[in-house]
Amino acid sequence: MLGKLSRYLRILGFSVQYESDGIDDNRIIGICKENSYILITRDRILSEKYKPSVLIHSTDTMNQIREFTSIYPPDRSLAFTRCTSCNGNLISVKLDENDYRSKMNPHMCDSCGKLYWSGTHTAKIRETLEKIGVWNED
Ligand SMILES: [Zn+2]
Repeated sequence: MLGKLSRYLRILGFSVQYESDGIDDNRIIGICKENSYILITRDRILSEKYKPSVLIHSTDTMNQIREFTSIYPPDRSLAFTRCTSCNGNLISVKLDENDYRSKMNPHMCDSCGKLYWSGTHTAKIRETLEKIGVWNED
């Protein structure tokens, strides 16, 4: 299961389509071919059937992020532009000025409508990504 990795990669700005376990290998390969996707998997056999693919070895999410970003470094300008739930694009929104989030750079997913803002959780995510070496402030 790479669900947590998928969410972190979306935070880093990667467009990620997530399929949970149990889906047929040929169907996954078909989806990847059709959309020119990079396949990310922990299944060695599946990774050998399709290229480009990234075989993830670790079961630890932070190490999984390191494994992926060592091959595909993130573009920092794209970080925090995707919905972690559905991969939609985040667009800037104005909230009522009485809403405590109105001054916290609020964004909304253009696909599912989920609301995002720069709060303490955002700082924590940045801190976590810094700690593992994928978010280095210049
Ligand atoms: Zn969404």
